[in-house]
Amino acid sequence: MTILMIYNGDTAPDAPGTRTGGVPLVPAGFDWPVCDECDGPMQFLAQVRLDDIDAADAALLSIFMCQNDPGLCDEWDATAGGNRAFVFPSGALAPSAVPPGDTVLAAETSAVTYVPMHDSDGYDEARERWRGESGRPLRDVLGQLGGLPAWLQFDQTPTCPACALPMSFVVQLEEGHDHRTGFNFGGGGCGYGFRCRPCSTAAFLWQQ
Ligand SMILES: [Zn+2]
Ligand SMILES: [Zn+2]
Repeated sequence: MTILMIYNGDTAPDAPGTRTGGVPLVPAGFDWPVCDECDGPMQFLAQVRLDDIDAADAALLSIFMCQNDPGLCDEWDATAGGNRAFVFPSGALAPSAVPPGDTVLAAETSAVTYVPMHDSDGYDEARERWRGESGRPLRDVLGQLGGLPAWLQFDQTPTCPACALPMSFVVQLEEGHDHRTGFNFGGGGCGYGFRCRPCSTAAFLWQQ
């Protein structure tokens, strides 16, 4: 089964659920991540409730990527320091203070609804079939939750920096439903979010 993430309209910037854009929900004392390459504040991309995958997994995956100098900060790379991903335990999370800057927040906050596609032959087949069945544009598919990543290039599953084991795939993100407000994954790229559950580490990368 493939679980598609479908664009479900605008939502509040501090909505508690899985969403793209808006303001990240963070624990007390959180420092907004800064790019290792350019020292500027990163852009918040998305948060994914991990209990959407496993009801016993009360945590939130939160993904950031530098957009201060698009293409110049190795922001596609899982370890170069141009992006960051976090796992926050659910509970006392609150909207983060937002640093100044034109690129720190995405242009739009989008709600997500899940559509399970049974008997699917992977993500690409599932999204094409959804388009046919729903009559909606392919761009309304914002990605997939869990399952297997549909790599645009080769398998780049990151290893956990703490335990050195392969990390678990959480989410695949498309650039967005509207090219004017979407993420910059190089133009037609996809982002991939991972975590290591025992170590509470997370990683993000994108391919084009
Ligand atoms: Zn940067
Ligand atoms: Zn680990």
